[in-house]
Amino acid sequence: MSTNKTDILIIGGGIAGCIAAISLIGSYHVTLIDKLVEPKDRIGESLAPAANRILKELNLLDGIENQTLTLFQKNLGMQSYWGSNQVHLVDHLRNPDGFVKSLDRKAFEVYLRKSAEERGVNCLWGSKLYNSTYEGSTWQVQINSNDDHLETQHLMASFVIDASGRQAHFARRQGIKRVVEDHLIACWATLPNTTENTMSTISASENGWWYSAVAPNNKRIVAFHTDSDLIHKSQLKTVESFLGLAKKNHQVFSLLKGKEKSISFHGTVAANSTKLAQIAGQQWATLGDAAVSFDPLSSQGMFNAMASAMQLSTLIRKLGFTADLTNNYSDQIDHIWQHYLKHKRIFYQAESRWPAAEFWKRRH
Ligand SMILES: Cc1cc2nc3c(=O)[nH]c(=O)nc-3n(C[C@H](O)[C@H](O)[C@H](O)COP(=O)(O)OP(=O)(O)OC[C@H]3O[C@@H](n4cnc5c(N)ncnc54)[C@H](O)[C@@H]3O)c2cc1C
Repeated sequence: MSTNKTDILIIGGGIAGCIAAISLIGSYHVTLIDKLVEPKDRIGESLAPAANRILKELNLLDGIENQTLTLFQKNLGMQSYWGSNQVHLVDHLRNPDGFVKSLDRKAFEVYLRKSAEERGVNCLWGSKLYNSTYEGSTWQVQINSNDDHLETQHLMASFVIDASGRQAHFARRQGIKRVVEDHLIACWATLPNTTENTMSTISASENGWWYSAVAPNNKRIVAFHTDSDLIHKSQLKTVESFLGLAKKNHQVFSLLKGKEKSISFHGTVAANSTKLAQIAGQQWATLGDAAVSFDPLSSQGMFNAMASAMQLSTLIRKLGFTADLTNNYSDQIDHIWQHYLKHKRIFYQAESRWPAAEFWKRRH
């Protein structure tokens, strides 16, 4: 097949895109593009134990487990201050799928990209979706290099998978809107870890909630989650303003106190629950965050990215690029979304210490 024709074009080489590409490559010619030449550092490191099953099925697990401490470290459990000042511990000792993996997120994404390349996926890094039109049962897609040279390539694809994250670039180009459930944002910082306890921490506050976890290479991540309209932008700008917010939460402040000079503040990212109004259509489908994005409280985003990639791949192999595929896959994602919303409500309702606070009123 010539390089400008492909069976399946995947837009976005994050976790969803790489897993879909690796799963489909045995059966189809697959092209995977990502606007970034290489993955960047980002928040989101706790990989749910159930993900091990998918990694094993795709022969990716051994390659990860051979790199303990550089790619991931075992997370022994979660300590939460939620609903009271009393700590609740949830350990993973009896989980049949094993422990949560605390990932070096960038190294994990590099590993997935490399695995896709090695297995024969046509990978175009530093390439951005620019335009797409549907003509004669084929998608004609224009991609541009994401640098100053602006080189253009034209690709013909029988099927397009949008795995471009919350932005859902391809679906948005079709005019599809996102249903937005809330306006949660997260601001985050990192610092060297100095504690022996490597359990993650969740701690509720009057205007949101805090999260902290230890990642490989002795790195501690600390994040505050609130609604974008409940906080002034000036409070989300510097290490000092971040510390000012943390002062109100004893558990989190004790992790930061006295370490001001070693804290790196990374800014703010969207963390709200959203769903595309249409998940799939004629010879296209969306995956991972592009389809549905979860509140980080669930710690399920990466697992959902992988699971939706596996679900879609299985259905493509079974049903081809048909309307049945569109209907079946859309139903599956709708089902996951309803289940997620139910659990999200239960979790937030378990915290009732600030009934008058706007953040909690919105979630009760
Ligand atoms: C604060 C926060 C904390 C989180 N913590 C966790 C956690 O602990 N555990 C967990 O499981 N999940 C967590 N998540 C969620 C998790 O990070 C996401 O669910 C996951 O990254 C989704 O993967 P994805 O591949 O669908 O999308 P993304 O990771 O967003 O990947 C999309 C890819 O598409 C590329 N792209 C975008 N536009 C284009 C374009 N036009 N052309 C080409 N390429 C494009 C991007 O460069 C990117 O590589 C967290 C999220 C947030 C916001």
